[in-house]
Amino acid sequence: MTNMSLPSLTEEKSEAASFINGAVQARQRAAAVFSVPAAGNKSQTADEGVDTEMFRDIARTTLPIEFRGEEVKLEAHAYEDDTVSYQAMALVHRDANASETTDAVPIVRVHSGCVTGDIFHSLRCDCYAQLQLALEAIIESPLGIIVYLPHHEGRGIGLVNKIKAYAEQDRGLDTVDANLSIGAPIDARDYELPAKILKDLGYEKIRLMTNNPLKVEALERHGIQVMDKCRTVTEPSEHNKRYLDTKRDRMSHSL
Ligand SMILES: [Zn+2]
Repeated sequence: MTNMSLPSLTEEKSEAASFINGAVQARQRAAAVFSVPAAGNKSQTADEGVDTEMFRDIARTTLPIEFRGEEVKLEAHAYEDDTVSYQAMALVHRDANASETTDAVPIVRVHSGCVTGDIFHSLRCDCYAQLQLALEAIIESPLGIIVYLPHHEGRGIGLVNKIKAYAEQDRGLDTVDANLSIGAPIDARDYELPAKILKDLGYEKIRLMTNNPLKVEALERHGIQVMDKCRTVTEPSEHNKRYLDTKRDRMSHSL
C-alpha cells in the first residue's frame, strides 16, 4: 500500500472521531468502516499472538506534517485496546518512489509520550530531541515508523506522578530514587501494544532506534525481531545531564 491508496475517509471521519472518544455504538460502526487490509504481511491471527478482541486498528488517514520547513505526508494509524484504556498512533513514512517495501525492514522508533518534552520542549528530559531524531530518520528512510504511546507518559507512571517525581528531584533525588520515594515503579511501561501494532502493520522484523536494552528485550518477548539497534544520542543540557547519567548508570541505557 502506498500513501496514495489509503482509503478515503471523508464521510466516516465524524464516526471515527466519536469512536476515539469511546462511544460504543460508533465504535462498532467504525470498526466495520475501517476494516480494511493493512499493508504488508498482516498477521492478525490468534495463532500469532494478536488478539483481535483486545486490539483494533480503528482508523487511518494521511497526515501532512511540517518538519523543518518542509511538508511531509505520513500515514497515521490509530489503535486502541478493547478497554479503550490505551490508545496509540503509528506514523508510517513510505517513500512514494520506492518499489514495494513490504519485505523491507523498517527503521522504527517506539516513543513514550511526554507532554512536557514532546509538546513544550522541556529540557529536563531528552524526549523532544529523541522524537526529532526519530522523525528525521523515518523521513529519510524509504520505510520508517514511529509508534507513539501517550500512555507511556513518565515511563508509564502518568503525568501527575511524573511531576511529583520532578518535585522530588528538585529536592536532590535522582530520577530512580524520585520514583521510588513517591511509591511509583521505576518503569511501568509495557510493550505488548506496540508489538501488536508492528505486527498489524506487517513488520515483525525491525531496526529499532533506542538506547534502552530493556525495550529491545520487551519487544522481542512479544514476537518482534530487532535486527539492528540504532543508538539515538542527544546532546546533554545542564538540565537533563543528571537524568541522562542516571539512565546510563542505573537503568542500563547505552549512553
Ligand atoms: Zn520526557
